[in-house]
Order: sequence, then C-alpha cells, then structure tokens
Amino acid sequence: MSHHIPSIGFISLGCPKALVDSEQIITRLRAEGYAIQPDYKSSDVVVINTCAFIDDAVEESMQAIAEALNENGKVIVTGCLGAKQGVVEKSFPDLLAVTGPHAADEVMSAIHQHLPPDTDPKLSLIPPGGIKLTPRHYAYLKISEGCNHRCTFCIIPSLRGDLVSRPVADVMDEAEGLISAGVRELLVVSQDTSAYGLDTRYRDEFWRGKPLKTRFLELSRALGELGAWVRLHYVYPYPHVDDAIPLMAQGVILPYLDVPLQHANYDILKAMKRPANAENVLRRIEKWRDICPDITLRSTFIVGFPGETEQQFEELLEFLEVAQLDRVGAFAYSPVDGATANALANPVAEEIKQDRLQRFMQVQEKISEQKLANRVGRVEEIIIDGEDEEGFIGRSKGDAPEIDGMVFIEGGHDLKAGDIVRAKITASNAHDLWAEIQKP
Ligand code: SF4
Repeated sequence: MSHHIPSIGFISLGCPKALVDSEQIITRLRAEGYAIQPDYKSSDVVVINTCAFIDDAVEESMQAIAEALNENGKVIVTGCLGAKQGVVEKSFPDLLAVTGPHAADEVMSAIHQHLPPDTDPKLSLIPPGGIKLTPRHYAYLKISEGCNHRCTFCIIPSLRGDLVSRPVADVMDEAEGLISAGVRELLVVSQDTSAYGLDTRYRDEFWRGKPLKTRFLELSRALGELGAWVRLHYVYPYPHVDDAIPLMAQGVILPYLDVPLQHANYDILKAMKRPANAENVLRRIEKWRDICPDITLRSTFIVGFPGETEQQFEELLEFLEVAQLDRVGAFAYSPVDGATANALANPVAEEIKQDRLQRFMQVQEKISEQKLANRVGRVEEIIIDGEDEEGFIGRSKGDAPEIDGMVFIEGGHDLKAGDIVRAKITASNAHDLWAEIQKP
C-alpha cells in the first residue's frame, strides 16, 4: 500500500532575515517527517513567508498568496505582511492561518491542526546543520530579532518589536553545527547587529565551559575563532563598532563591514532619526582604514527622502566622493504604509527621485570601478560558489553573496563550492573581478 507523506509547499519571499525564519520552519517540518514540495499540486498545504518592507514586496506577497489559493487552496501566511493581519485576512478570507514574522511555533501549530504529521520515525531524520535554503558552503546566522531604533522610513520595529538578542551560547552552538555540516562562511544578520546583547545588558553566559558575553565584539571574536569566514551585516554605525576593526586586521573575521549610512546631510539624517554627523563618519572611516587597510565598506543610501533639496543631495554626492566606499546600494525613497516619514512635508517628485538615483549610481559606479581596478595584480583568497560553462565563479573576502560582485576564475580544476583558493586578480569592471588561480 502506498504511504502518503504529508507535504508542504514552501514559498519564501523577502530579506535574508526572513530566509532564516523559513529555514527554521522547514528544518522543523523535515524533522517531523513532512516532505517539502516544489509545486502546488503535490503539496497538501502551502506556507508563504511574506515580506512587507516596501510596496513592491507587499505586491509580490499578495500575488503569491492569490496564486497559491487559486492553485492549491490550503494556504498559511507568515512573515512581515502577516503582521498586518487585518489587511491579509480582509483580502483573503479563506486562508487557514495568518501569523506575523518569527512565529515558527504558530506556523507549526497551524500546520499540525490542518495537516497532522506522519509518525513514522524513519521520516524524521534531519541532516546536521538543519535544512539550508542557501548553498551549503555559506549560511545566514541570525543573532537577534527586532530593533530599538525608530528610523522614520522603516516599519520593522512595528512589525518585529524591540531588540531581542538570542542567547550567545545558542548562537555559538548553531554556528558550530553549521560549520560541522560544511558551511565555510557565516553571514551574521539581524536588524541591528552592533546592538547585539544590549537588551540582555550584555549578559555573561558559558560556552564550552568558558564565560562569553552576549555582546557584539565578544560574539564576533568567538565566531571568528571557529575557523569559517565571518561576515558582518547590518551594522548600525555606533562608536563601539570601531572595536571590531582590529579583529578584521588580525584576520579573525572578514575585513568587511556592511554599515547602512542612509544619507550624509545633517537635516535629512535627523529627519530619518539616524546618527547625524557625516564628518564623524568620515573620520571613523579613515580610522578604520588606518587599522585595517584592506577593509571593504558596504553601505546603503536613500535618495529623494521627503524634503531633500538639490543642495542636500549634492552634499550626499560629495560625501560619496570623499568616503570612497567600496560597495553601495541606493534606493529612491518610497513611502511604506505605516512609516512616520510619510507625514513629512515636501515629498520629492518621482522623476526627481529617479534622476537623483541615476546620478548617485553614476558617481558610485566610477568609484567602484576605480577601487576594483586598484586590486588588479594582487593575490587574494577566493571562495568558490560554483561554475558555469566558462569556468569557476567565486567571491573575494570583499564580496557578500547575492549583493556584491563575483570573481570569475581562470584555470581551476576539480574545485567545489566552498573551496578557498588563492588567485591573482587579472581584470576588473565596475562590479566584478577576473582572476587566475595561483599554484600553491
Ligand atoms: S535601524 Fe534598521 S531595522 Fe531599525 S528602525 Fe532603523 S532601518 Fe529599521
């Protein structure tokens, strides 16, 4: 007699933090013997982890829900859009359940209610390190949830609440498990990585019999000592971030800092409720580069924030020229339902926003091109991500997966994802590098 395995279709939308939520739910589903299916037809129930960060993401999530209801009919919604429960339920009254983000327990109980697990223990096997949605050689490590800031353009605190740091021993256990399952690069994520432990008053815990503080610096060092590449994302520019730069210079963690600055003009930063002194930031960048000359600085900016004048925008362009950041992302401001910035005076017209975005990217592209050209001739370590018909593709220590550039490798043999090789940079453009493998 054929045995029906309860099957879940899982759709994960949104940012790396949402991906971590998805991984946790999928890990638990697999541990309980559910199968994860790639299509609606073979799924008994579909779970959609939604995103609501910007209007486009809301639209994408709403479309995904409509499609799943249409194709399958039994749908559970979780994630940031789910936090706006009224909105989702009003549009889709036939959903089985709706939960907010970071609600693995609620999602699991909704699944149990509508599709009880199979009790065959053979189906409950789970690979070490859980189920990863990222390739096996890198993994996102979420260290906290929520945020104590109230940036006026952002609704994350209202969706996810104030900062709640994970116990440091749990984070370390997870990191160790991932590394023993083959992960070579840990991408540390949260809403506010440098605030880690603030809510616990930097509680002392024990890990491997030794005291370890629930704090950004101590966690960074302890993770670095596990032997994998450790990359810090979403680092709010607090002064104590400076303390982590020597760890980068010493090779304990990657010389890479993803520090969203958002703008450079004092009044705009104040209106955003962000730290508002660009002079200080420039001084600190200079200091970081003195301590760790190889540091790669990534940042994101918003152009066309309400009230931004041409002069304020030009100040931002000047900041870019002086700061010479390595990797930069930019967005034209778009009002997010529920953000306090929506009420600010003098919104910038759409065509001006788009024009500024283009000018911003042109300035940064030249900087990026020059910065990458300066690396030609250097020998660097490259982590292999995969290969295409032309050869192996990897990333340098200065490239985070999915958001930064790639390194196209000439001359590799028998390499597999996660291998780390030494290669000489031979060419560059505004985004990517080309490199030749060096003989050991
Ligand atoms: S620090 Fe980040 S997550 Fe927190 S409110 Fe500001 S933009 Fe949102």
